[in-house]
Amino acid sequence: MSETEDWRAEIRRRTTAEIRLDEEASRHTSIGVGGRIDAIVFPRNEEELTQTVRFLKEARIPFLPVGNWTNLIVTDRGYRGVLVSLSGLTALDLGEGPAGDVRLTAQAGVSLAELVNISIREALTGIEFCAGIPGSLGGALRMNAGAYGGEIKDIVETVRLLDPAGEIREASRSGLRFTYRSLDLSAETVIIGAVLRLRRSDGTAVSGKVREIIEMRRGKHPLEFPSAGSIFRNPREVPAGKLIDQAGLKGFRIGDAQVSEKHGNFIVNRGKARAEEILSLIALIQRRVFETTGHQLRTEVKIIGE
Ligand SMILES: Cc1cc2nc3c(=O)[nH]c(=O)nc-3n(C[C@H](O)[C@H](O)[C@H](O)COP(=O)(O)OP(=O)(O)OC[C@H]3O[C@@H](n4cnc5c(N)ncnc54)[C@H](O)[C@@H]3O)c2cc1C
Repeated sequence: MSETEDWRAEIRRRTTAEIRLDEEASRHTSIGVGGRIDAIVFPRNEEELTQTVRFLKEARIPFLPVGNWTNLIVTDRGYRGVLVSLSGLTALDLGEGPAGDVRLTAQAGVSLAELVNISIREALTGIEFCAGIPGSLGGALRMNAGAYGGEIKDIVETVRLLDPAGEIREASRSGLRFTYRSLDLSAETVIIGAVLRLRRSDGTAVSGKVREIIEMRRGKHPLEFPSAGSIFRNPREVPAGKLIDQAGLKGFRIGDAQVSEKHGNFIVNRGKARAEEILSLIALIQRRVFETTGHQLRTEVKIIGE
């Protein structure tokens, strides 16, 4: 038996979580690319999650948590190790907080779309900016997702974490370091869930704001093609999309990977793009933008794999 076969047999003995072997990442990533992943584990609760992470750490198998795969590019050669999917952790609870605030407790696998829907149904304000962001709560926290003037950090009260040693701890917002599109955690630390702070409001006002945001996004983003959202972080002074336009790259194509004609900071998959084409396009954009504007674009999407 090879080393990989050894640990894949062992992991089945060490966790009751569902395990899928040799999955193609392209079936999962929102941009539709990526090769074979040794194993994806789908814990259904904290216990299965902890069993899994403890085993992976002990056996020294590389692993990463994943949510909805909407900010991820996996290389064509795929990922050697385990992706731990949080999609099965979807518990939710609403409770009263001080001064009329509401505490929304949610596990990492709950989608932002569901949280926004709850806020409409329960007339709660604070999370409208997440409307249209296709990620999970865990991914949104890890990326400090944001749009239209809001960031997830603004509404976080506490985050429940599983550290790489397999220990669970609660971190309050003041003990966490959020920055632009990032939360400072090691790549192997798993966000299990969080408590969000929302305020009571008027249901019509909340749904009106959500509708307005969705409309604006429809007008600006190329939602008709698979993508991974914004490819580059915005430099402080100017949006990355504007620099890409200035470099004359809107619509530029390598194979089936194309700089969106609608929004320069999106790369869309026009058919059967491979990760290699997307990565070549990213490198080309960085080079051309630097040559024409002097700005060094840095990626916002996470690129993983061999
Ligand atoms: C059409 C489109 C529009 C988008 N618009 C926006 C936008 O307006 N604003 C914005 O900020 N983003 C946007 N995004 C990007 C993306 O949706 C967000 O970054 C989202 O928060 C990622 O969540 P996810 O669950 O898909 O994370 P994934 O893509 O699964 O993972 C992203 C990163 O987070 C880590 N991660 C995921 N879950 C966990 C967890 N439970 N614990 C620890 N680490 C974890 C992964 O290891 C990876 O490093 C957009 C994407 C698309 C496709």
